[in-house]
Amino acid sequence: MAIDILIAGRLPPNVLPQLEKRFRLHQLPEERNEAGAFLQQVGGSIRGMLTNAAQGAPEQLLSALPKLEIISSSGVGTDALNMDIAEARGISVRTTPGVLTEDVADGAIALMLATSRRLMQAERNVRAGRWLKDLPLGNRMTGKRLGILGLGKIGQALAKRAAAFDMPIAYHQRNRNPDVPYAYHDSVVSLAEASDFLVVIVPGGPATENMVDGKVFDALGPEGILVNVGRGSTVDQPELIRALEQGRIRAAGLDVLADEPHVPDALLELENVVLTPHYASGTTETRLAMGQRVVDNLLEYFEAELQGAD
Ligand code: NDP
Repeated sequence: MAIDILIAGRLPPNVLPQLEKRFRLHQLPEERNEAGAFLQQVGGSIRGMLTNAAQGAPEQLLSALPKLEIISSSGVGTDALNMDIAEARGISVRTTPGVLTEDVADGAIALMLATSRRLMQAERNVRAGRWLKDLPLGNRMTGKRLGILGLGKIGQALAKRAAAFDMPIAYHQRNRNPDVPYAYHDSVVSLAEASDFLVVIVPGGPATENMVDGKVFDALGPEGILVNVGRGSTVDQPELIRALEQGRIRAAGLDVLADEPHVPDALLELENVVLTPHYASGTTETRLAMGQRVVDNLLEYFEAELQGAD
């Protein structure tokens, strides 16, 4: 019997061609009204779901899939996957760790350089035929102090890169890591006080919600730069906008926002903000590797049944 799989989020291009022959695939309509009717029709037969870390597995969707056994998600964040519901229902959740670490760390470095060296502002000037007109100087990155909030896989890959820029490195997370030579701070405020660049790369979800708030911005100070490649929910966004407008911090490089894909006008209007659309892992190489993981995770889960069908 065919195994029914729901495609619930945008996936790398190598995913669907590999699965079409093995499974019966159903694309979830984007329009809410259409999705409701569609789920009433096919929801009862769905056993696997493909999604991505940003789209996640909303509670309402999960409740329309009573026979769901596995969620295969592209990405490493699980904050949008409703892990507690999945666990309670015995649904296996598989992500794509390991393959995106290096590119996200590169993405953080790109945002650090783009903000400190005013690259986007400079580029806008050239395109507008203004060359150097009214373009303030940038600031050096080499030798400045880097604070990493979340020294996990990506945080450590970032630290390695920052060492090449002669940056003293410090970090905060719940547990001190005895295997790294970097200075540990037991709070985000203390880390921010000791940083010129504060890079956020902790998971999202309730435990880190608004962890980077007004107190952190004031500790980072008027020459400090915030870069967020983790999750928008970790930063108090209205307070960040106020801090940027008031010059309480120098600049921000944001790959992730609180309510993606909504971008507040206030952020768009600020010259000292560099924005990218949750794009830190957005290279062809990484996305194809993530796609392969998504495929392999699903094939592995249904391996026995698929062999029987071959
Ligand atoms: P890891 O699990 O390897 O590292 C996460 C780190 O965060 C750990 O060192 C952990 O340390 C720390 N941490 C977790 N919870 C807290 C907390 N409540 N307070 C303080 N520190 C905490 O994950 P990765 O490095 O692979 O990825 C990190 C996150 O990056 C992902 O969860 C995802 O949200 C985001 N991401 C963003 C991408 C993008 O495109 N922008 C792409 C990929 C990932 P400890 O347990 O000691 O607290």
